[in-house]
Amino acid sequence: MIEAIILLGPPGAGKGTLAEGLKRSTDLIHVSTGDMLREQVKAGRPLGLQAKAYMDRGALVPDELIMQIIAARLDRGPTAARYLFDGFPRTAEQARGLEALLAARQGRVHKVVLLEVPEAVLVERLAGRRVCQRCAAVYHVRNIPPRQAGVCDQCGGPLIQRPDDAAATVLNRLEVFRRQTAGLINHYAELGLLVTINAGQPRDVALAEMVAALSGATQR
Ligand code: AMP
Repeated sequence: MIEAIILLGPPGAGKGTLAEGLKRSTDLIHVSTGDMLREQVKAGRPLGLQAKAYMDRGALVPDELIMQIIAARLDRGPTAARYLFDGFPRTAEQARGLEALLAARQGRVHKVVLLEVPEAVLVERLAGRRVCQRCAAVYHVRNIPPRQAGVCDQCGGPLIQRPDDAAATVLNRLEVFRRQTAGLINHYAELGLLVTINAGQPRDVALAEMVAALSGATQR
C-alpha cells in the first residue's frame, strides 16, 4: 500500500525546507520533482535538456515528462511506503495521473498540506534563497544563513542563487502557480483531504504546525 502526502503551495512557501524537517522525524520518502529535474539538468541527461528551457523561464515542464519521472520513481521504491510529494502535482492533469498511479498500486492520497504565505513574504524568501550547488541544501541570506557566507554547512559546497529565483522569473512562477496549480486547492478540499497551515511563520513554528496537522500520518 502506497500512501501519499502532498505539499501544496506557491514557490517560496517553504515546501523543500519543511519537507527536510519532516523527513528527520518520520519515515516518509521525500520526492521533489524540482530536485529531480535539477539533477537531470546537472547530469546533462536528455530529460534534463528538455526540461531546462521551461524551468529557466519559470514555466511548468510538460505533464507527460513529470508523470514519467513519478512513475519511474514509484517503480524504483518499495511497494509499501509513505511518500511526501513536494512540488507535485502542479496541474489537474498531474493530480489525475497521480490518482491513477496510486490506484494501480492499491495506494491513495492520505493528506494534502496547503502552505499559506502572504505574497510579499514569498518574494522576499525567493530573492534571498541560496542553494548548495553540490548537495542542494537550502539557505536564506537572512532567515537561514550558513555559518560561513557562500559555503554549505553540510558539505562545504558553493552556495548559489537558482537561475529561476531571479526577480523577473519569480513573478512569472507566482503567476504560473495562480493559473495552473491553485485550482488543486479546491480539488483536494472537495475530497476532504486538505489541511492548511500558516507557513509564513518561522521555520520551526511552521514545522510544528505541520507535524500536528499530519499527526497520526507521520509517526514512525
Ligand atoms: P521547484 O523546485 O519545485 O520550485 O521547481 C522548479 C521548476 O521545476 C518549476 O518552476 C518547474 O519549471 C519545474 N517543475 C518542478 N516540479 C514540476 C511539476 N510537478 N510540474 C511541472 N513542472 C515542474
